Amino acid sequence: MTAAAKNIDLAVVGSVAIDTIATPVARRERIMGGSVSYACAAASFFSVVGMVGIVGEDCSREYRSVFEHFGIDTCGLLTAAGKTFHWSGVYEADMNRRRTLATELNVFEHFSPQLPHAYQKAPFLLLANIAPQLQHLVLEQVASPLFVAADTMDLWIHSERDSLRSLLPRIDLLLLNDEEARLLAGQADLVKAAGTIQEWGADYVLIKKGEHGAMLAGKNEFLLLPAFPLTRIQDPTGAGDCFAGAFMGRLAGHGKQPDENTFRDALVHAAVVSAFCVEDFGMERLHPLTNGEIKSRIEEFRRMIV
Ligand code: AMP
Repeated sequence: MTAAAKNIDLAVVGSVAIDTIATPVARRERIMGGSVSYACAAASFFSVVGMVGIVGEDCSREYRSVFEHFGIDTCGLLTAAGKTFHWSGVYEADMNRRRTLATELNVFEHFSPQLPHAYQKAPFLLLANIAPQLQHLVLEQVASPLFVAADTMDLWIHSERDSLRSLLPRIDLLLLNDEEARLLAGQADLVKAAGTIQEWGADYVLIKKGEHGAMLAGKNEFLLLPAFPLTRIQDPTGAGDCFAGAFMGRLAGHGKQPDENTFRDALVHAAVVSAFCVEDFGMERLHPLTNGEIKSRIEEFRRMIV
């Protein structure tokens, strides 16, 4: 970490991973992944973003060049002796279900996130998918952000439920998918599940429903969004992280306390960027993506919505 961190709009904390992924279409060995990598890449189209994470000595210049390509500030990226976190997963035929084959924590095992000074004043903060205890540690380091969102996964709902529950009053918005929302709230009805999570302290709950879109329940807002229809899906990995990153990146780009209009705008952009992500493996589709392509797909998407 260096002292030369930029003034950023959005700080994102999460995992940097080297992933091995098999889908019914193909297989890729040791490609760049992790929740913070996908989220920062997606956010970078809309705001100045800085990442907080950890990599090992095996994370070569070639892997890191991806972050440079997206203009992500990496002053919060720590390099430690050892190997980078490695995740390996396989998708079933319909790509809606995946099995984790291996999770090798490596340097991630002793990760204690440290926010560079400039990030501590960032107005927007995304606690991407990592252990809730680490998300708590980050909250202890920030001044008074305008808006804080946290992502999570089934693993933490099973193994760190209390820590996750106690995070809710400390954040503004919780992001999770439909199965995770049901699991956390203990309720099959998603509207009720969102209500329960709000009662536990998160003012806003954003539920991702894969090919069925997303739902945002707020204090006064209730918004529904379809998914952008796709015929070419190569690899769903990172779709949730991209959704979270683009959503927060877009809110941060507006630079003010989110309201119903900025939520609407951020949701549409999140759906479109995550749809681009799954069109190819890892970050291969995001890499050449242009603002012009995003803009024309947003227009196409808006024309589809009744
Ligand atoms: P998503 O498909 O959006 O759920 O995110 C996939 C990314 O999450 C992959 O790049 C993985 O490396 C990363 N990942 C998988 N398991 C974990 C974990 N336990 N903690 C943090 N990140 C993880």
